[in-house]
Amino acid sequence: MTPASDESALALAEAVRGGERTARSAVDAALEAIAGRDPELHAFLHVAADEARASADLVDETVRTGMDPGPLAGVPIALKDNLCTRGIPTTCASRILEGWRPPYDATVVRRLRDAGAVVVGKTNLDEFAMGSSTENSCAGPTHHPLDPSRVPGGSSGGSAAAVAAALVPLGLGSDTGGSVRQPAALCGVVGMKPTYGVVSRYGLVAFASSLDQIGPFARSVADAALLLEVIAGHDPMDSTSLDRPAPKAGRSLEAGVDGLRVGVCDELVDDTAPDVCRRVREAAEDLAKAGALVEEVSVPEIRLGLSAYYLIAPAEASSNLARYDGVRYGLRVDAPDVSAMNTATRTAGFGPEVKRRIMLGTYALSAGYYDAYYGKAQRVRTLLIRAFDRVYEHLDVLLGATAPTTAFAIGERVADPLTMYMSDVCTIPSNLSGHPAMSVPFGVGDDGLPVGVQVLAPALCEERMFQVAAALERAAAARAGATDKEGAR
Ligand code: GLN
Repeated sequence: MTPASDESALALAEAVRGGERTARSAVDAALEAIAGRDPELHAFLHVAADEARASADLVDETVRTGMDPGPLAGVPIALKDNLCTRGIPTTCASRILEGWRPPYDATVVRRLRDAGAVVVGKTNLDEFAMGSSTENSCAGPTHHPLDPSRVPGGSSGGSAAAVAAALVPLGLGSDTGGSVRQPAALCGVVGMKPTYGVVSRYGLVAFASSLDQIGPFARSVADAALLLEVIAGHDPMDSTSLDRPAPKAGRSLEAGVDGLRVGVCDELVDDTAPDVCRRVREAAEDLAKAGALVEEVSVPEIRLGLSAYYLIAPAEASSNLARYDGVRYGLRVDAPDVSAMNTATRTAGFGPEVKRRIMLGTYALSAGYYDAYYGKAQRVRTLLIRAFDRVYEHLDVLLGATAPTTAFAIGERVADPLTMYMSDVCTIPSNLSGHPAMSVPFGVGDDGLPVGVQVLAPALCEERMFQVAAALERAAAARAGATDKEGAR
């Protein structure tokens, strides 16, 4: 088996731009790594080898003619399979989209291509991004790269695993309640959710439109920043896209944290496993040593997030998924009349978790229950936003765990949806508030599997968030170096 390349996206793009490496060789290496390792991981639902080689050749041609191939020249990237790719299957890991090939590229995909990146394939996910383990995929689960008996997290588990296993330097996922950050934490890579509206959702198959954001996976904070800068920025095709330039995420990575006010958030620490909790405390100590002003802070409204989310997200999903009617996309199961055809198609096409969400959401929106459920959840959402606004009056960022535990066993939580939903208790609040948040690998738990520390920031403060994330990355490396030395002694 060819060893996968650990090269950073930044270094690779620079080598390709400088003519020292060809995009073609980088893409061939990625395809070979995928062929070697993916049969075991099952991170990919579709590998677009021919298209990838053709795009790589175009990049190399651009370099040869002396034109600028873009900041991600020749960098292979894996896309969660709920991002529309023109002519390449986009399934959302659902039978209902079987055979559908989108007639257009998502805006993020178009921006990636314009920046010289090369799409190598589409990755596994929980059906329609509903889940926390990638087990709700109609194609079967993805396995954790460090322990095949465990989940990689979800719903963007395929992209997280592909980046963690170094099959590709970069990946994209979508984060509605934590689906980029939680699998990033479990797999030991960097994952971030931008401020709502910073990245265009055009061509992202909608789950819960007021919460959905696309976000990057990378093996370093700097690579994640580079990818965010490429995909972010105003898009007239998404009415919720903010009319402002992309954040300068990579500008302050070396700035340090001296004088920054960091709040360690009780609710994002206390409810987590003891080993995860210890890593968060160490991360806070390291930031304090680096000059940050660290304090404990309580935001009790955070504990209301999960309940509000599981009304708002299913409500929006039940409306968004009404379009899969057996007429417009993918699967159709024929029946004597239209209504029976709709029912037969949906019965055969949707998996159990998607059906559960559609029913929950339809119930929460129905006459007589709307005010008590959906309406109340929206009021809770407002309370949470106000609570965050209050703490950010005197704090620059918040710190907490990304997920309450390390990667769990495949099958462990499938029978108990509530336990599964709890996997996102630390990430959901930022989706409800629309604020940015990111996960940085910070050591391992008692089982030797990665722990992610989460940095949360006020709306549009991506630059500051990345600045703190970069400091955490250095601190984690210093701790790992110290442990290695002890081991060698
Ligand atoms: N796990 C959460 C859910 O099942 C979040 C999913 C997501 O962010 N796409 O809804």
